[in-house]
Amino acid sequence: MDQKALAALLFPDVTETPEDLEARYPARDLPEGAVVTRMAPSPTGFVHLGNLVQGLVAERMAHQSGGVLFLRVEDTDAKREVPGAVEVLINTLKHYGIHFDEGATIDGDSGAYGPYRQRQRAAIYHVYAKQLVLQGDAYPCFCTEEELTAMRAEQEAKKVNFGYYGEYAVWRDRPIEDVEAAIAAGKPWVLRFRSTGSIENKFKYSDLVKGTLTVTENDIDQVLLKSDGIPTYHFAHAVDDHLMRTTHVVRGDEWLPSLPFHLQLFRALGFRIPKYVHIGPLMKMDGTSKRKLSKRKDPELALTYYKAEGFPVRAVYEYVMTLLNSEDWRKANPTASSDDFKFSCKKLNPAGALFDYAKLCDVSKNEIARLDAAEVYDLALEYAKEFDPDFAAALESDPEYARSILAIGRGGKKPRKDLTTWKDVRPYMAFFYDGLFTPGEFPAQFDGAVVRGILEKFLQTYDPADDAAVWFDKVKALTAEAGFCADMKAYKADPAAWPGSVADVSTFLRIAVTGKTNSPDLYTVMQLLGSERTAARIRAAMDRL
Ligand code: GLU
Repeated sequence: MDQKALAALLFPDVTETPEDLEARYPARDLPEGAVVTRMAPSPTGFVHLGNLVQGLVAERMAHQSGGVLFLRVEDTDAKREVPGAVEVLINTLKHYGIHFDEGATIDGDSGAYGPYRQRQRAAIYHVYAKQLVLQGDAYPCFCTEEELTAMRAEQEAKKVNFGYYGEYAVWRDRPIEDVEAAIAAGKPWVLRFRSTGSIENKFKYSDLVKGTLTVTENDIDQVLLKSDGIPTYHFAHAVDDHLMRTTHVVRGDEWLPSLPFHLQLFRALGFRIPKYVHIGPLMKMDGTSKRKLSKRKDPELALTYYKAEGFPVRAVYEYVMTLLNSEDWRKANPTASSDDFKFSCKKLNPAGALFDYAKLCDVSKNEIARLDAAEVYDLALEYAKEFDPDFAAALESDPEYARSILAIGRGGKKPRKDLTTWKDVRPYMAFFYDGLFTPGEFPAQFDGAVVRGILEKFLQTYDPADDAAVWFDKVKALTAEAGFCADMKAYKADPAAWPGSVADVSTFLRIAVTGKTNSPDLYTVMQLLGSERTAARIRAAMDRL
């Protein structure tokens, strides 16, 4: 076969050569050992927690080695693309704190190794496609969908492997006249790789996460260019990661089965093979067994879930860090920037990390507990504006008031940890707003008249000028006066000796004032509410008893 004639026939417009491209995208000038890696997501409109895990692994590997992290948008599958998905992708990754040094941005490309959107790279792929044809490593295939379906049916009947190989690779050695005729007839074609592999052969390959694996050679003549001239993932991966000078490919392990083909391609193209970091999927416990998190069954896979549930961005980020095994480091360095965390691929579970909701909540509680009242106010307000406008209006009606509420129990060695998500802020503090306050039920085991009497006594002695100690002494005094036990130790030793304790009296007051059995420090709550509102609520509660 005259490869030159075939290449000219298939790619009449390609004038550039691989050498031209090599010159346009020279080796990067980076220190020894610097990792150049990327995130290469497809804009499907769905960004998931696994993307973040991969993003963070890539980010750590690049930045801790003085290397480069870039974002490449893999938009070759126009059928799957959702309008606006590229923007969603870019914004979401940014929102969750993945910082790219170069690549696709909202305002276009940034960096010298672009374009970073694959659809804009068609001409580049064609240069290498032509090169492969010239070398005899690729050829056009004019099989129709129907022919390929019939081939598959035949393979099924014969119980042989599926795919375009061996005797089934019917265009592999066709004379150039057949190709000319098909092109003249306007038949669509795909470009296929001419595989020299055999499934009889196995070889060893080493992955930075999976370790050394024994894999089987690829014998399929896979598609490199689809009939619209757009490359498949495989071909684009080889060309892009070579020209963008990627040293490490961080990606999901669903690509592992394609690896033998990728290695063949890199070799045929004369490219240096990058190191691979194949990351296992996120798993979760389902009863007693583990399974992959699924898009259909598990809402927590989608990053939108965390936003809607009100998990702080920082908490999600810190949680994902724990999936990279940051916990010991974090314990030793509680306030260090996450940029100081040294990640190692050895720290990853090759089978995939286990998603643990309870741990996420724990991380989140601690994150929120670390913030000061002003930060909590800003972030809770941002959430409420999007998901709870009534509450946002309440917060904005008096920012100082809201901040003083949020300051209760904050700071110090043992900050309160009432808030797991921004969603919790409303139930936590709504009672501070008359419009959002809902009266609570008093415990049924106490006689209404007794409770009313205690509340009345409280009002008689209540003085907002009292300090916390005096306030509490008064509560104890009225406890004793009502025949309840003011000394918790004594009460616990013999609870049957009294109708109730000072804790019950506090609960009556708490329910009357906050509508809840649980609230921040009641003295402070009353101070913030002010004596008039406090008294009005207690009176209203007495009326209900
Ligand atoms: N576009 C591929 C995906 O979304 C990326 C795989 C890779 O990182 O190479 O799965």
